[in-house]
Amino acid sequence: GSERTSPLLDGLNPEQREAVEYRGQALLIIAGAGSGKTSVLTRRVASLLETRDAWPSQILAITFTNKAAAEMRERVQAILGQGSEGMWISTFHSSCVRILRREAESVGLSKTFSIYDSADTKVTLKRIIKSLNADTLGFTPGNVSSKISKYKNELADADSYARNANMSDPQEVMFVEIFRQYTSRLRAASALDFDDLIGETVYLFRAFPKVAALYRRRFRHLLVDEYQDTNHAQYALIRELTRPVASELAEEMDRDGVHVRGLRDATGAIPGASLTVVGDSDQSIYAFRGADTRNISGFEQDFPGARVILLEQNYRSTQNILSAANAVIGHNFDRKEKKLWSAGGDGEKITGYTAYSGHDEAQFVSDEIEALHSAGMAYRDMAVFYRTNAQTRALEEILVRSATPYRVVGGTKFYERAEIKDALAYLISVANPVDELALRRILNTPKRGIGPATETAISSFADDNGLTFRQAMRNCSALGLGPKVTNAILQLSELLDSAALTLDPENPAGQSNVSEVLEFLLEGSGLLSVLRKSRDPQDEARAENIEELVAQTKDFNKENPDGGLVDFLTQVSLVAAADDLDDVSGTVSLMTLHTAKGLEYDAVFLTGVEEGLLPHQMSANEPGGPAEERRLFYVGITRARKRLYLSLAMTRAQFGDINVAMPSRYLQEIPAELIDWKQSPGMANSRGGTQPRALNARRDGFGGRSKEQAGLPPATPKPKTAWANTITGTVRDNGGLELAAGDRIRHHDFGEGRVNQVTGEGTKRIAHVQFDTSGAKKLLIKIAPIEKI
Ligand code: ATP
Ligand code: MG
Repeated sequence: GSERTSPLLDGLNPEQREAVEYRGQALLIIAGAGSGKTSVLTRRVASLLETRDAWPSQILAITFTNKAAAEMRERVQAILGQGSEGMWISTFHSSCVRILRREAESVGLSKTFSIYDSADTKVTLKRIIKSLNADTLGFTPGNVSSKISKYKNELADADSYARNANMSDPQEVMFVEIFRQYTSRLRAASALDFDDLIGETVYLFRAFPKVAALYRRRFRHLLVDEYQDTNHAQYALIRELTRPVASELAEEMDRDGVHVRGLRDATGAIPGASLTVVGDSDQSIYAFRGADTRNISGFEQDFPGARVILLEQNYRSTQNILSAANAVIGHNFDRKEKKLWSAGGDGEKITGYTAYSGHDEAQFVSDEIEALHSAGMAYRDMAVFYRTNAQTRALEEILVRSATPYRVVGGTKFYERAEIKDALAYLISVANPVDELALRRILNTPKRGIGPATETAISSFADDNGLTFRQAMRNCSALGLGPKVTNAILQLSELLDSAALTLDPENPAGQSNVSEVLEFLLEGSGLLSVLRKSRDPQDEARAENIEELVAQTKDFNKENPDGGLVDFLTQVSLVAAADDLDDVSGTVSLMTLHTAKGLEYDAVFLTGVEEGLLPHQMSANEPGGPAEERRLFYVGITRARKRLYLSLAMTRAQFGDINVAMPSRYLQEIPAELIDWKQSPGMANSRGGTQPRALNARRDGFGGRSKEQAGLPPATPKPKTAWANTITGTVRDNGGLELAAGDRIRHHDFGEGRVNQVTGEGTKRIAHVQFDTSGAKKLLIKIAPIEKI
């Protein structure tokens, strides 16, 4: 033990204290819910700084949400009473975006790359599936995107997938083709999806040792919260960041003027960074997104000599709540026994409530919230959890009626609203002109008479000529469209060009900030005025939303005086459900069980504890599904500090039907003496005070094992085309090539063909070519990769 009495060690138990003060290479803190894992990680960061064992810039702390990152940063600053500039505390995704924006060119990306959310991915996949007629084989954007995501989380790409697939199966061949096209479309658009953010960073480090060395040198201390929910790609990223820098490379860095001297050991190498991870395998709830608890169970093999610290005292909940949690999770097999205990006393019993309908359940929740509130509990200290978003409807209806202030966390999905996506697509089109998805979104929004046929014509014109969609728009007069349509396209194109110009630092008129660009685009496109003029009351709400976005850009300008358009777009892309939380607002929080991870409330209402919802019916056929659902239930229970309510409804309206629901099998696992059961007074044969009859007491036999991994090899560095060049890159100039009907030509991609007709004039001359094997194409002669033969 140390004799130092730094206030940041105040109140810690001996294990927590050891975790804060340990200074070895690798530290694993495994502990149950509420035992202070996150608190210890925060204090550890503060301690590293306080003892001068690290500079702020040498610390990389990974949290599960942006909100958690902000909280950790605030707490570290509060503990130290000073700023901590240069310290990276962020999610995996945010850290990777930061790295990738800096190193974009190495991986053939534009610095302004777009980030596709799941909706963008689905639109892209829908187009691919349609063009390949793959829907007839049962492919949907939904099932393809989750399959692609699963393999990307394993660091597999389309090629490595194909090597392991049974390519005599037409289903597999088609999937590989979709996967390939999806990859190439994203590249052409200089876009990355969420999984790519991690995968590309791993690729960057593996393919460019010098780049990797810079980050290995910089981050001397890595700390990761919620380690049980890391997937293989994230694990690989951590491995890459914690490798040593070999002495030759360190030597070279030294010669290049990178400061490494103080960091090198006796052999001249820079040793790997120290790594601290904290987690709880019992709270692993993201196996469906590739989370792998083997990252925890394998930690001591991965990092030999690692120190392991167990924390068993829970500081969050009463003993009754903990006993229930312990009993439930004890039903999962294949787990390390750990018993949580609390010094806080038994507390009140858990309240169980059997409602006759979802509405009745909502009424109960609302009444109890009001009762707690009257007894002095603040609304913000209460939360209502549910398994599926569909359950919010009944809850909201009743809460509105009883005038209870509430907020659906992550439910507003502001940035997913169509009108917001439209406005953002304008900004994206300016920031990243090769993003075809964004351009196609705004092409006829607001309506300017550009129909789907024209959209397709521009798109194939672009494909035929090796142009980006944007370049094709600029050259659309060559397409022979009507003058009105042509004008509309050119006007949009010019609007985007002018907007881009206002962002140019060299612009003599001064550089615009984000809100100015947005307002310029809204004005120029008429997006907002169309909504304002509309008689549709819905459009009024849409206009208000866009105004809210403008207000947000103004806040952004204030908070980030140096922030540019791309920074704003990045921030928007990375907003996650939990970031929506606002604990000063004095409202009850409603959220899904997944969103609740890591949080705590004085009173927790866990609703819909029914078969089919918890465990969710979708989990029934998944190996390990019911065990994962049990962990989700455990996460929910352990959020509660003082009061826990478990409720279920005997009937529930779903998709217009009334379903009869059975009590969840998990309820039986809680010792009866811990729960005080109540029943709806309106229920027939009411026999209050008994446990609901569990009609389905079957236990799943899958245990807590996570799904078998696909066993795919890690991605090896792959050559990438410098498609970033297409953004600003020059195109060839065939200006002088004379062509006439009857000529034969050779095209770089399409092979040989015959010119049927030449239309247009000057730089806009178009050859209508019938290729021998590639079909008919319209080529802009000026730029087409063709020669006369
Ligand atoms: P989870 O598994 O849910 O993420 P956790 O292990 O990260 O939980 P924390 O959120 O860090 O736990 O801590 C739970 C609560 O216990 C917090 O309110 C924290 O302030 C409090 N706490 C942690 N350690 C102590 C301590 N030594 N003394 C008093 N309170 C503590
Ligand atoms: Mg935590």
